Amino acid sequence: MTIEPQVLESLVAITGRDGVLTGVDAAPYGKDWRGRYANEALAVVFPSDTQQVSDVVKLCAANKISIVPQGGNTSLCGGSVPLAGPIPQIVINLSRMNRVRAIDPTNYTMTVEAGCKLESLYAAPEAADRLFPLGLTAVAPHCEIGGNLSTNAGGINVLRYGTARNLVLGLEVVLPDGRIWDGLRSLRKDNTGYDLKQLFIGAEGTLGIITAAVLKLFPRPKSVATACIAVRDPAAAVELLAHLRANCGDTIDAFEFISRSCLDLVFKNIPETHEPFAIKHEWLVITRLADVLPAPLDAALRYALNSYGSGIVEFEVTTNKDDAERWWKLRKNIAEAQKREGLSIKHDISVPISRVAEFIEQASAALRKAFPGVRIVAFGHMGDGNIHYNTSMPDAVQNKMFLAQHEKEVHHIVYEFVAKLQGSIAAEHGLGQLKREEVTHYKSALELELMRSIKSTLDPQGLMNPGKVV
Ligand code: FAD
Repeated sequence: MTIEPQVLESLVAITGRDGVLTGVDAAPYGKDWRGRYANEALAVVFPSDTQQVSDVVKLCAANKISIVPQGGNTSLCGGSVPLAGPIPQIVINLSRMNRVRAIDPTNYTMTVEAGCKLESLYAAPEAADRLFPLGLTAVAPHCEIGGNLSTNAGGINVLRYGTARNLVLGLEVVLPDGRIWDGLRSLRKDNTGYDLKQLFIGAEGTLGIITAAVLKLFPRPKSVATACIAVRDPAAAVELLAHLRANCGDTIDAFEFISRSCLDLVFKNIPETHEPFAIKHEWLVITRLADVLPAPLDAALRYALNSYGSGIVEFEVTTNKDDAERWWKLRKNIAEAQKREGLSIKHDISVPISRVAEFIEQASAALRKAFPGVRIVAFGHMGDGNIHYNTSMPDAVQNKMFLAQHEKEVHHIVYEFVAKLQGSIAAEHGLGQLKREEVTHYKSALELELMRSIKSTLDPQGLMNPGKVV
């Protein structure tokens, strides 16, 4: 499908010639990070301010062209790339809108544009002795704050600061008809009706395009202690978290869980990674305490771990940044290590924290029975009840067949356990095009009806990121 010449001319008139890509130049923006989707758009457009976004959206609405908002294109569920098929689609990539508009250390806020890389948003608060706490675990260097808000991203600090949703005070959004909603308020209290910004957060670009946000900042921790802990089993990890919370309170800002299969993949695929202990353990936890008070935290962490009991096999605590980073490297590289092994059947699930062990044990037993030899890569944000639970066959040829023949069956087994435990089939990565159909089995008819009626009210032509979420 090619773009009409007059539409192309109009796009160029809005963003300039270097703001529009077509054909082979546009192709990389149609592929997702995992390499699962590779679809074509009529064009990829790079607006550099909110007015340009609005003008492009108005042009698309007038010509009935669908819009795929795109940030860093690190979506793991095909949310940020076009759909297959003959639907005319334009990708609006926000990367050029990358300014920090304002920082207010007294109000503990900063106002940023959607295309700011997440990793670029730490320096300005730090210079003002403040913290912006959204920290995706893995190396996702291209992800942008607009994408993070649109997926309600999580990461390793959710335990203490909440998901992206909790970090926003105001938004600026271009609506599906091109109007600009200026909701850039920086208020902590505002009970003047519905909290509209929350509709756009986690909407995966299906209700409008986020162009800017007022984000919350926090006091910057001065003291940090990190522990790497070998635990007896997942149940011991769950109990350990409850114990640490009782003893260390809100100083815990991360509690990450890693299984042996993850470690083996990391050691095989990521250079300069090593076993943290002399003995190979089946289950590891990495946890961290952080506090604004400058007093050292390592003694408190050691004390809490020593008083836990037999669920811990062994542990080490450090306040040294480089030592801690060596442990974090194991956790942060699991997704990359897995990618290098080929595709897997992925799940990003959550259950109540107290039921995480039950989920891992029951789902793993069922999968091993149904698919002898299956490799289960279980890891993640145990502190939030969010486990990444991926399955594949270690042999490449067998894996190809496993993926082609059994994906639906594997999802069914995993999601039935999730449903039984009152969990969610999409904890932090969203639905995108990957889980759009699946979610209809796990949400009530009433919830789906409400979601569809919000969508059709805001986007009656159905042009905003079609085929995603609802
Ligand atoms: P994109 O992938 O470009 O887009 C994601 C969705 O948001 C799409 O539906 C898109 O249409 C929409 N969108 C993007 N920008 C806008 C906008 N301005 N307005 C409206 N809609 C928009 N996720 C986590 O939550 N925690 C993790 O720890 C984590 N680790 C990851 C590690 C790796 C190695 C990878 C590849 C991914 C990881 N992810 C993680 C998933 C992904 O990085 C997040 O979903 C991230 O928030 C997406 O940001 P992005 O800028 O790449 O958005």
